[in-house]
Amino acid sequence: MAMHWQQPLPAIYRELTDPELRFRITEAKAALGDELVILGHHYQQDEVIEFADYQGDSFELSQHAAALTKAKYVVFCGVHFMAETADILTDASVSVILPDMGAGCSMADMANIDQTHEAWEQLLEVCQDQTIVPITYMNSAANIKAFVGENGGAVCTSSNARTVLDWALDRKDEAGDGSASALHPSSLSLPPSRKILFFPDQHLGRNTAAAMGYDVDRDMVVWDPRKDLGGNDEAKLRDSTFVLWKGHCSVHALFRPEHVDQVREKYPDVKVLVHPECTKAVVDKADMAGSTAYIVKQVREAAPGTIWSIGTEVHLINRLKNDHPDQTIMVLSDCQCLCTTMSRIDLPHLCYVLEELVAGNVVNQVSVDPQTRKWATVALDRMLQLKGTGNPLGKNQPVGTTID
Ligand code: SF4
Repeated sequence: MAMHWQQPLPAIYRELTDPELRFRITEAKAALGDELVILGHHYQQDEVIEFADYQGDSFELSQHAAALTKAKYVVFCGVHFMAETADILTDASVSVILPDMGAGCSMADMANIDQTHEAWEQLLEVCQDQTIVPITYMNSAANIKAFVGENGGAVCTSSNARTVLDWALDRKDEAGDGSASALHPSSLSLPPSRKILFFPDQHLGRNTAAAMGYDVDRDMVVWDPRKDLGGNDEAKLRDSTFVLWKGHCSVHALFRPEHVDQVREKYPDVKVLVHPECTKAVVDKADMAGSTAYIVKQVREAAPGTIWSIGTEVHLINRLKNDHPDQTIMVLSDCQCLCTTMSRIDLPHLCYVLEELVAGNVVNQVSVDPQTRKWATVALDRMLQLKGTGNPLGKNQPVGTTID
């Protein structure tokens, strides 16, 4: 289990002006030199991203963390599960610091380990002659990743979800273009021999499985951890290939299909680009769907004059807007689609943890215990071995599913 020791922010840091904080952060970074690496998630606010040595989505940042050789300290400007992952992937001598330990993820919090054990026991009981492979999205606690690793599964990201699901279902010979649907055992009235328990984002699971050719009603059920058998009957559980944990991202759930209709009416040439954490109804209406890295790439490579309406976190969209003034970029909603927990990482917290490091004190360290680390590493290693495309839904650009 990860430790969550939050040091209260000394009042002095709230009294400093932004220029003072910037100056002190710059000084602390210089004093720490190569011993320090600051990782910044795409959804982080600009004033913090300014100090990041690497910026990316959780998959890219986990790869940076895994490749670090010189750093003694990793300051992770993201949310708690990302810092846990960095701690798992880095050498034991590296301290991983989350500037504000209150920066959690509402989606990750929707699956806890006790509920997971209970669900697993019930599924094993009901599906005795079927192989169940647990797969967790990167956005989950370290102990869920460890559970998955210990039980033959893997972690996935929004970049490689489709590849990981293909691997888990042993579908490597199938086309990956949706044509596999005809081969589904359920279409032959047979229960599947392999099934997936997918944590914690039902939308990424549903969108990816649908893109692989599976039918939402026939092949998928939602597992509500507050209900016996997740709220399902035994026959339906046995017949389903995907058991989708009832979790979601509170940011991406704000986008609705009518937002797509409205923007298309106003801008007939608009390209609607969304993250696969959005509901299937939104993804179905969008032109393109893919991971955060995929979204960044589409905008970066687009022609001047392109009009985008994007369904993801607002800090990233505003940054894209600033970086690409030759394009029209807007949020696919009029609401503030803000990851409030990630926004807890601000200049005062960043300045505080860095100055403590300069003084020789490690504060707000995220540390995963050895047993959890061992099995979570197994699940993460499987993920890192599976190539992703950033576009797990195959929308707009059909993708292959090569596994090496
Ligand atoms: Fe979690 Fe959603 Fe925030 Fe990502 S955007 S960290 S999934 S709450």
